Amino acid sequence: MQITKHKVAAIHYTLTDNSGNILDSSSGREPLYYIQGIGNLILGMEEGLEGKKKGDKLQIKVAPEKGYGVKDPAMVQQVPLQAFGGEKVTPGMKFQTNQGHVVTVTSVEAETVTVDANHELAGVELNFDVEVMEVRDASAEEISHGHVHGPGGHHH
Ligand code: ZN
Repeated sequence: MQITKHKVAAIHYTLTDNSGNILDSSSGREPLYYIQGIGNLILGMEEGLEGKKKGDKLQIKVAPEKGYGVKDPAMVQQVPLQAFGGEKVTPGMKFQTNQGHVVTVTSVEAETVTVDANHELAGVELNFDVEVMEVRDASAEEISHGHVHGPGGHHH
């Protein structure tokens, strides 16, 4: 059975950037279960996995446009240090805004803090090493819910 729209696939994956740093991996965990063709995964992964079957091992290179997007300069902003209420602020810290966005502190100056609301993988070329562990039909219920049920999925 091949991975096509509305199939459930289980994959093991390791994600690295172009310098070989491991950004994420399913190694040592359950494989990732998802439904193909409905946006569970980033577009570049869905395209790379289309037509693959159980046992296939492949490498998928995903450009930012088909991954987490390109960096939007408008989402990098300067905030007065005072806005942090005296908390010690250092680069790399993450805060949730009142709008629910997660921003990352990229630099701290004397009176201003620069924060970046882009996804941390925006603008990054992604290299996936993937092994397809399982492929099956999605149930009508899974398709209507938009997620996988049972092993590796939602239990409800
Ligand atoms: Zn459900």
